[in-house]
Order: sequence, then C-alpha cells, then structure tokens
Amino acid sequence: MIYKGQFSPSKKDLKRPVGLFAMRENFQWKVKRSNKTTLHLVCIIDNCSWKLRAVKRDEGTYFQVRSFINEHSCHLEEIYHHHRQASAVIIGEVVAPRLQQHDGCLMRPKDIIADMKTMYGIQIMYSKGYQALHYALSLTYKTHEETFQLLSSFGYVLEEQYPGTITDLQCSDDGPSIRGFQRCMRHVIAVDGAHLKGRFGGIMFVATAQYGNESIESGISKVFPYATHTICCWHFSENIKKRFQRKDVADIMDKAARSYSELAYNRHMEELRNLHKGAFDYVIAAGPHKWSRVHCPQIHTATANVDTGRIH
Ligand SMILES: [Zn+2]
Repeated sequence: MIYKGQFSPSKKDLKRPVGLFAMRENFQWKVKRSNKTTLHLVCIIDNCSWKLRAVKRDEGTYFQVRSFINEHSCHLEEIYHHHRQASAVIIGEVVAPRLQQHDGCLMRPKDIIADMKTMYGIQIMYSKGYQALHYALSLTYKTHEETFQLLSSFGYVLEEQYPGTITDLQCSDDGPSIRGFQRCMRHVIAVDGAHLKGRFGGIMFVATAQYGNESIESGISKVFPYATHTICCWHFSENIKKRFQRKDVADIMDKAARSYSELAYNRHMEELRNLHKGAFDYVIAAGPHKWSRVHCPQIHTATANVDTGRIH
C-alpha cells in the first residue's frame, strides 16, 4: 500500500514497497531523480503520467511521499518477464509469510519461481529464487544453529533475571518427560509443543507452571518479584492514533517501540519529536521502559503460538 503522506526512514525503505507495488501492478519504474533530499520515480514508459515523489522534510530525517499519481497514461500492455524491480530481497519479502506450504513442506526455489510466474507473471532465474529463499529464511527463522543456541542462553537469562529459577535442558529421543513434569509442577498455566523443522528436528515442549492457589496476578509478583508491568504496544499505538488523530505519529512511535537497538530507537524518537511534540511528551510520560523493546528490562521473548496474557 503506497499513499501520499507515507513515511519511510530512508529512500531504500521506500523503494521496497514501491518495487513490490510495481510487480503487483505489472509496470516498471525508473529513477528520474535521486539525491539527499528527493526521490523521484516515473513509469518506465516515456511520458507516462505515473509518478511518485518523496522528499525529506526540513524538520526530520524521514522521507515522505509528497505526490503520488497512480494513473498510467501508457497502455500497460507489456508483460515484463524480467521485471527490474523483482530483486531477491523483494521476492524474499513476498514469499517469507508463505515459506511453509499447505503440505507442511518448506518452499523450494522452484516453488518460488512458479509463484512469481502465477502471481506476477514474472520469470526469474533459479539463482534468484535460491537467493530469495535464503533471504526469506533469514527473515523468518535465522539459522538453525543460531536458534538452537538461543535455547541455552534463554535458560541462562531466565536464571539471571529471576533469582531462584532453575533451568535444565535435556534432549532425548523418548519424548517429553510427562511423569517428571506432573511430579514437580502444579497448576499448569500453559503447555505447548512446537515441532522443530530442519536439520535437528524433534519437538520442543514448553510448559509454564505456578505453585499454590493464588491468582496469576498476585502469583506473579510473588514468584517473579522482578517481573515488570508492560504496555501492549499495539494498543498503545492505537491510543495515540485516536488521541492525536495522526496515523503517521502512531506509526513512528510503533517503529520506536519495536526497535532492537538504542540507535534505531533514538532515530525514531527524534523523528517523533520533530513531527509532534505533544505525542513525544505523551509517550515519554508513559515511560519507555513499559513500551519500548530496548528499554524494557524484561526478556524480549515472545512465543509463536502460545497465548500470552497481558497484565494491565
Ligand atoms: Zn505507465
């Protein structure tokens, strides 16, 4: 979705969705002008009316779409078999959400090639399909080694953050230790098994348990005295959208909240301050340690398919 007024942290970040848009709409664009403050794209067919112009605003560092004429005076009849906007990165982003196919198997380069052909009428080489697959995999899973490595460091961080916690990681071929679990734990809150794909295989069995009859809320403060109370950043961003009637402001706050590094967080916050001082003060007053990924003292972990509770 491209619209007038849209923000992007950089020219590169803007070119991606516009490239995807061009693939979907079956046309190609070329850069007419690109410098530190302006990005001007036009349809590849000479004299066609389609154009997009984005500029960096004086008060910020982001690019904003200033004019977007999404109408072609050209005939759009040509089928582009080798689409110039179809880079491995863009294709990778397109296929990333569908890496796992209906039959449970992972996409292969030839599936990506077939997909591009049916969805966009674009022909890509095997090598590009292969690169796109690897880019999509890195977006979704990281590598198997990296993710397995995280398991033991996750245990370590748990023990560090919550004194008294004991973690033990054992791998066996006999399946999860149900009897051991029943003997040690009471009042199970959530149990979930995730089938691990790839080279190592197996099932990771995750269970969260609580002692005694207390409620979750009072239980948490006793069992996890170092637990913190955080704000759901989706709801927070929705509140900002309503309160200040500015979607762009909420979008930038959302980017700041989800930033993994202090640097990116500061960059987005600087932009937010430039755009709307009131919203900036509001989110600061709410306490970045409650909504920002970099400032939250909690472990930054989310489960893929276990429902997690929020405490307000
Ligand atoms: Zn055109």
